[in-house]
Amino acid sequence: MTNPLLSDWTTPFEIAPFDKISDADFAPAFEVALVEHKAEIAAIADASEPASFANTIEAMEVAGGALDKVLSVFFSVAGADSNPEREALQRAFSPKLAAHSAEISSNKALFGRIAAIWDARDSLDLNDEQQRVLMLTHRGFVRGGAALEGADDARMKEIKSRLAVLGTEFTQNLLADERSWFMELSEADLEGLPAFVVDAARAAGEEKGVEGPVVTLSRSLIVPFLQFSPRRDLRETAFAAWTARGANGGETDNREIAAETLALREERAKLLGYACFADFKLETEMAKQPATVRDLLMAVWDPAKAQAEADGAVLTEMMHSDGINGDLAPWDWRYYAEKRRKAEHDLDEATLKPYLQLDRMIEASFACATRLFGLQFKALDVPLYHEDCRAWEVTRDGAHVAVFIGDYFARGSKRSGAWCSAMRGQAKFPEVQGPVVINVCNFAKGDPALLSYDDARTLFHEFGHALHQMLSNVTYESVSGTSVARDFVELPSQLYEHWLEVPAVLAEFATHAETGAAMPSEMLKKVLGAANFDQGFATVEYVASALVDLAFHDGAAPSDPMAKQADVLAELGMPQAITMRHATPQFAHVFAGDGYSSGYYSYMWSEVMDADAFEAFEEAGDAFDKETAKALETHILSTGGTVEADALYKRFRGRLPGVDALLKGRGLAT
Ligand SMILES: [Zn+2]
Repeated sequence: MTNPLLSDWTTPFEIAPFDKISDADFAPAFEVALVEHKAEIAAIADASEPASFANTIEAMEVAGGALDKVLSVFFSVAGADSNPEREALQRAFSPKLAAHSAEISSNKALFGRIAAIWDARDSLDLNDEQQRVLMLTHRGFVRGGAALEGADDARMKEIKSRLAVLGTEFTQNLLADERSWFMELSEADLEGLPAFVVDAARAAGEEKGVEGPVVTLSRSLIVPFLQFSPRRDLRETAFAAWTARGANGGETDNREIAAETLALREERAKLLGYACFADFKLETEMAKQPATVRDLLMAVWDPAKAQAEADGAVLTEMMHSDGINGDLAPWDWRYYAEKRRKAEHDLDEATLKPYLQLDRMIEASFACATRLFGLQFKALDVPLYHEDCRAWEVTRDGAHVAVFIGDYFARGSKRSGAWCSAMRGQAKFPEVQGPVVINVCNFAKGDPALLSYDDARTLFHEFGHALHQMLSNVTYESVSGTSVARDFVELPSQLYEHWLEVPAVLAEFATHAETGAAMPSEMLKKVLGAANFDQGFATVEYVASALVDLAFHDGAAPSDPMAKQADVLAELGMPQAITMRHATPQFAHVFAGDGYSSGYYSYMWSEVMDADAFEAFEEAGDAFDKETAKALETHILSTGGTVEADALYKRFRGRLPGVDALLKGRGLAT
């Protein structure tokens, strides 16, 4: 029998045939596809004809097609629906993949051919996208260590392979700690919790196989619990478990993994001739230098901290009038902030939530894309990897654009957070290839499923990434969709969140789950007015994380990251009732891989841009202004990584944005 991962997919739009794939297929398919890619690379590197763009760069674009297919399926299920077998496979694959990519990036014959084409680039009559792909390929090899010789070369290989293993272990430890902890609640403990939290706690109890409701460490359950539970003792216990993930001692402790990771990253940067890892990492970003990043973060830190301290004083007063003396603790902040929100904005999440039905919010995210870009969505009945997944065909003027998959509900087999990935990226070379894009979220299940306002924002955010993939219109897959600088990639997603705030959108799609009534206009006003609520807290917890990340990588690697974290927070004067959004042992952005290492700042960098970019629609007088939407698609959403990020932004807006728009957007401008 042929392995379904390796055969041609005759499914609609060549979506992976999930109903035919079993876990036993992954390892053999992986081995075959790996050997095939090695042979393809060897044929390119050892060809006797002189190197040309076609026989080297384009050939590399095409090589590895089978491996891409196998891995796109495997990593989708490993992240969103894991099990012990898939975890074992991931542990087995990750060092092999690291070794494989290290082997390619240090292939001297291959690099020789790329360097020859690079040297001859001015005489090759390449178009702009081809020149860009050539530059990126060449730079990627140089940064990967292709120019290293002898012992340095060997060491670089070891470092990369070890870093890949550490990244996987970090993720798995975090997931293990998240899964192993839960707190059983008695019926009396449920007092004060709104119905949706009680429902989610009961559903979580069922999943854990216990009689009654439980609190787990899933963000979609613990955050509302901390917000609503009047039981200070239970909040403290839950908060302590939440912040101890990855730091519980024993086999799942992430602290030594963090230290070893930082040391290896520094060594890697120095081998390549950089003073520190941040210099190396930021070279390819829009920000370019650590100092630029620090300036941006510090420009935001002071106003944010001032706001948080003022808010903290109000919350402390509220706690004291509850008869609890002493300082406000981190497990108190959300609870009193929610009370204050209720008092000052007369809007509590529990009243709001029935208006934010998942299905209606999905419709809203689609409808905005219809109005802005003319996209149409039609439900698609195809077998996917989990019964909770749904698929749509995306078209425009009758023509196929993409397949979009949504996997929205939290479950124990899914890693936390929300993300977007392309199971297949857009390309026109060697032939037209339509994207298959997936959004994965962790919303609490329910009938009907209801979202918090934060959840709804996450939904729009991930859908913004999906649009970046689906509207991509480039030739080569290596520069398509979200293959852009890390500090640019959050622009389309964060920008898309703004359409959730357009009053007409909530007025139309925020309808009550039971009565079907539209959100009352008073409530609508309050929702939109509350968007800036507690932004001091949100900005402080985020910027503190970003500054710790930067400090870890700018200069010598700390031997004790926890001590370094404490130093940075002390120097900043971190408000004592606020903790980092992601403390080091849980900081998957930074340690689960290289993605956001010395790059966590990029969300805020992008927010500077998204505030400024949305102003273009406001200036046009219409949130759905056709011409502005066209410009957004032409210059940003369709261009992938074919042009430098700052140049793309200037084409769209005519200039670069400053920090003022962001402070105004967060209500922190003084
Ligand atoms: Zn994002």
